[in-house]
Amino acid sequence: MLIRIYEQDAYVFEFEGKVTSVDNDWVSLDATAFYPGGGGQVNDLGMICGLKVTDVKMKGDDILHKVPGHGMKKGDDVWCSVDWDRRYDLMKGHTSEHLLFGGLKRSVPEICIVKIFISPESKYVVVDRDVGWDDIRKAQEFVNTAIKDNHSVTKSTMEKDDPDMETVRVKLDRIDDDLVTVVEIGDVDTAACGGIHVRETEEIGAVLVDRKVSAGKDGFAVHFRVGNDALVRSLELANTCVQMSEILGTRTEDSVKALQNLKHDSDARKEQMKAALQRMVNDMRPETIGGIAVYSGIFETDERKIITDAAEKVKNNGGIAVLLIKGDSLSVMMSSGSNRVDCSSVLKEVMGGAGGKGGGKKDFAQGGVQDVTNADNILNDLLRSVKNALE
Ligand SMILES: [Zn+2]
Repeated sequence: MLIRIYEQDAYVFEFEGKVTSVDNDWVSLDATAFYPGGGGQVNDLGMICGLKVTDVKMKGDDILHKVPGHGMKKGDDVWCSVDWDRRYDLMKGHTSEHLLFGGLKRSVPEICIVKIFISPESKYVVVDRDVGWDDIRKAQEFVNTAIKDNHSVTKSTMEKDDPDMETVRVKLDRIDDDLVTVVEIGDVDTAACGGIHVRETEEIGAVLVDRKVSAGKDGFAVHFRVGNDALVRSLELANTCVQMSEILGTRTEDSVKALQNLKHDSDARKEQMKAALQRMVNDMRPETIGGIAVYSGIFETDERKIITDAAEKVKNNGGIAVLLIKGDSLSVMMSSGSNRVDCSSVLKEVMGGAGGKGGGKKDFAQGGVQDVTNADNILNDLLRSVKNALE
């Protein structure tokens, strides 16, 4: 029967084991302190007999260690060591995740956990809904207070039908056993969990939430950092924040409000510019060539959709549109409701001559050229080409 040392004592990182079986690169032992991963926490890495352990996984009741190039055989006594700095960071991350979610639940009682991920590079908890930064701030305060109060972290087992189960954060449908392992953090948090944790919360040092990103249909991922990493990141973010306040010309505590106002003004200005562009497009007057209404214009905008819609509309009414958009480069949009004008061949010819590109369909084509200073000449060339086709 395999002895899982990490379950008995999470602080053992050097141990002697006996090889029980070998399958190519994979080695099984009679006892192991290597956590095989599970519950969102990644597996440990380390060394066996001075050789790198590059992966650890569960297979039935066994735990397999991948040791490429080893020469071990059944019965060998082997000296093993888990990469402790890495593993200790994961333990801190896991205990922090319990506290962080517990803290979020205090502010947002209806919140549910979807999944967690604890690795050296990335630690996050996915929750089923968006949470405001004010609730995140409160949860973060709760976590860091719990760290300062140095609660002990203990494990126990409970019967699934124990009435006290009501006080435990658990998803019973995910647990097959009748016995549930419960992790208690002082008197502030109780949750079902089979993972590995620190003994006392003070060991975590600090926790910082530094990012919240959409996790699609799952909800939102709240990313956090622990220990020295949290401290280093806090200092970076604080520096960014004071720089931003300086640019805004506000006190740091007023900078969020100031940015919100700025964003509001900028959005409003964008809407005004959009409306002005729409008016310009609506006010375009056509030139009649060979009985066909030909619309043309040069617009400085990044609202391509308004221009595209205008070109579509002209085409549907049997007219021709030659519309240029000046931005970082010059783009051209051409539509034709007349079979006498082939947009694709006109654009290919004119844009090719101007050192750009163009193409598309007979009734709608697009093109572009890097140099925006040549817009007037390009428009004239395009209109001349249209005239030749219509007259
Ligand atoms: Zn857990």
